[in-house]
Amino acid sequence: MTDYPTYANKRITIDKIVASHTFQGMHPTMQQRVRDLIEASAGRVGLGQGLREPSQQLQLFLNRHVVDPNGKYTYAGQRWSRLPGVAAAAPPGKSMHEIGLAADMTGDMAWLHDHVARFDLQTFEDVNNEPWHVQPSELPRARSSYESRPTWGLPPWDGSHATTGDAAHTAGIMAGGTASRPLTPALTARPGDTGPAVAVLLEALIARGLMPDAPGSRSGLYGPEPTRLVEDFQRTSGLDVDGVVGPQTWGALLRQVRPGDRGADVVVLQVTLIVRGLIAETVGNRDGVYGSATRDVIRQFQGLAGLAADGEVGPKTWTVLIGARTPVASRTRGATTPDDGVDLDDLDVLTAYDGLPAE
Ligand SMILES: [Zn+2]
Repeated sequence: MTDYPTYANKRITIDKIVASHTFQGMHPTMQQRVRDLIEASAGRVGLGQGLREPSQQLQLFLNRHVVDPNGKYTYAGQRWSRLPGVAAAAPPGKSMHEIGLAADMTGDMAWLHDHVARFDLQTFEDVNNEPWHVQPSELPRARSSYESRPTWGLPPWDGSHATTGDAAHTAGIMAGGTASRPLTPALTARPGDTGPAVAVLLEALIARGLMPDAPGSRSGLYGPEPTRLVEDFQRTSGLDVDGVVGPQTWGALLRQVRPGDRGADVVVLQVTLIVRGLIAETVGNRDGVYGSATRDVIRQFQGLAGLAADGEVGPKTWTVLIGARTPVASRTRGATTPDDGVDLDDLDVLTAYDGLPAE
């Protein structure tokens, strides 16, 4: 079966693309056009992201902008300027991705350029220098223009999508049940890994007193020594002993943090916010002090996730921050864990867009 390129140098079948939430969340006509385009490319072009959750849009925006009284963008009642050297990202509520009328394609951009019009799609090559971003040819390019005259209507597009909509999802989280989908891509650390999940893991091991609070402990690598420590921790916690840090192990490792707290557990939270792109990577942002800046970010994130915006980071907020499919507080031995296959909905949008513009 032909497979198609997606982010992180992965390839994926059309079945998996079509089954993903990011594809299913697009308008049905948009789905058909994107699918036809992908299949016609015979493996050259794939889907990176269609529907983008508001929380992901917020991550992108906060990652690239700072509050500035003279800034050109308005969001959350403040003016913002784009950081130097980074590409555009619309504030939450302003992107066509959030209403399922845009898709970011991956793979052979020259092929896309040459064939996109055949599928009644236009790229943003000449708009924001975004050759991968496609929208329906006949619709306005800007979301505000579209919403002033929504000729294709507004989401949810059909009954099936409504069940995965914000209200149902929020209800699931509020009830403490298993979320049908994560609001953020899942952080999972496996022995030998580097990357965002490992940064959080190493900080959590330090906070637990399992590793010394020293630069050498923050190597960025999930090497043999941290693996041994995690396996010991899993053994004493009654978890599966495999060194894989997913929802169950996160649930046992991560601790509740509240506004006003100080210390190593706050650093774990701050590092998580940094790797999620919710706060900038500065020394002051990992000072172990849960002050008003950290609280504002958490409350905004909780609001988007449909949680009580109280700034308290307990199991529910950790679940959404970690991007787990099952609540991180779950410590049941043998409970289902996410499979290892490529899941479009789990690919880290911030990593995928690193250095690239994203509307
Ligand atoms: Zn886009």
